[in-house]
Amino acid sequence: MLVHTVLNDRKISYTLKRCKRKSVGLIINHEGLKISVPLQATVPHIESILQQKADWITKKLEQWQSKKSLAISWKHDAIYPLLGEPWHIALKPSGEIEMARYSVNETTNAETAEQSVPQLSSQHIEKFVMAWYGQQAITCFKQRIDIYAQKLNVPVPSFRLSRAQTRWGSCNSRGIIHLNWRLIQLPLHLIDYVVAHELAHLIEMNHSMRFWKLVESIYPQHLIARKELKGYG
Ligand SMILES: [Zn+2]
Repeated sequence: MLVHTVLNDRKISYTLKRCKRKSVGLIINHEGLKISVPLQATVPHIESILQQKADWITKKLEQWQSKKSLAISWKHDAIYPLLGEPWHIALKPSGEIEMARYSVNETTNAETAEQSVPQLSSQHIEKFVMAWYGQQAITCFKQRIDIYAQKLNVPVPSFRLSRAQTRWGSCNSRGIIHLNWRLIQLPLHLIDYVVAHELAHLIEMNHSMRFWKLVESIYPQHLIARKELKGYG
């Protein structure tokens, strides 16, 4: 259910989901603000929590909307998108840092959690976050390539992560696929489009009608995905 409210003089729309849970949970991702509430939660109760968290919500929504540029800052309180969801650096009970899914509920305060992460050097953060992105990308891309190679009925090709500035993926004449590591920041359906596109090049090394028919046969929503991908620059 889509609900509208006003927070800090700003009109905000959010998706409200009622489910079996004890507290109110707030999540901000590429689709905007999502709120999960207990079945019996009243509208005034939900509204009062939103007003309490108004600063956090408006700040995160702004950060997240500007994230479409996918620019990364290596700061301890930065948000790092993974599969279209916000993640951040958090502290394990052991004192080590880890990456954790960004969400907040009425009992925990995300701002306090952020501040408890020590001020690390930007080089340290970059190294840590990039290693995490690399691992996530390799696991995810391998799995998606397996799925789409099977759909296309081609042998699973080998792939490499690329750091190309201008392209999401490519396929060379030796049948090796390169996928930009930044794809791992995008929602899964966009990764799937790029994977399907590059795999189709294993059969058609061009962008002919035959090529697009092939893409469509394994990824029917390709026109929508292409348009959406352009929004990420
Ligand atoms: Zn292509």
